[in-house]
Amino acid sequence: MKNSILMTYFAPTIAECLKVEKPHEAKEGVGAVKNLLEKNDCLDIDRTLIYNPDAIGMWLFQKYTSEFSKVLENTQLALPVQTVLPSVTPVCFGTMYTGAMPSTHGIMRYEKRIIETDSLFDRLAEAGKKVAIVAVENSSMAIIFGERKIDYYILPYDEEVNQKAKELIKEDNYDVIVVYNQEYDDKMHATYPESEVALQAMKNQINAFSELADAVRENWTNHNSLICCVTDHGIHTGDNGKGTHGYDVEEDLNVMHFFGVLPKNK
Ligand SMILES: [Zn+2]
Repeated sequence: MKNSILMTYFAPTIAECLKVEKPHEAKEGVGAVKNLLEKNDCLDIDRTLIYNPDAIGMWLFQKYTSEFSKVLENTQLALPVQTVLPSVTPVCFGTMYTGAMPSTHGIMRYEKRIIETDSLFDRLAEAGKKVAIVAVENSSMAIIFGERKIDYYILPYDEEVNQKAKELIKEDNYDVIVVYNQEYDDKMHATYPESEVALQAMKNQINAFSELADAVRENWTNHNSLICCVTDHGIHTGDNGKGTHGYDVEEDLNVMHFFGVLPKNK
């Protein structure tokens, strides 16, 4: 069964939580994240960390649940989400941050070019929010939301990206920080989704999120913070025995998105 919440939910949902206009082409959001804020007496969110690990399919969470304990411990809400077709990175992140289907944002195959469609980044910048994207060189997230009035920190690989993200959290100058990691996707294409090196990469990405959450907890003590662990698509083993994705199959389409709220110290 494919999950019922479509990837289009993300941008309008976060826009509502951060009290900015939703992207102009965005579909409907969901109420669950705002309800989480409300329950924690945290409707005034002034810091947001969005962690984007590539390719962590929902079945990995189902099969290796105990490995995700550091994600669960740092969050209070988990949503099952169906990504869009073709389930490849620029198409999926295009939809995540515009709230629009691929036919609207225009990236409908594996290609990395700037999306002109209005996005969460445009709405945040327009509202005067300071936003940083911290991403790996030549990755989709380093390219497709370029030319916005936000700051870009483009670095060689996950380790450097995460180091920079921790520095930025510590400096406490950005309202929203988006962090992209790609090691799991690279390793599972080179081998297969459950190879030793791929599963290690999955654990590395879980640890990276946990460390970023710790940095938020230590440094954003004067702020109400929202943290999100939101992947782009799933994966499966192709006919050649290697990891792949992009297909209209549950393994590629179903993902889990996690949200946590960290209220300011009172
Ligand atoms: Zn991939």
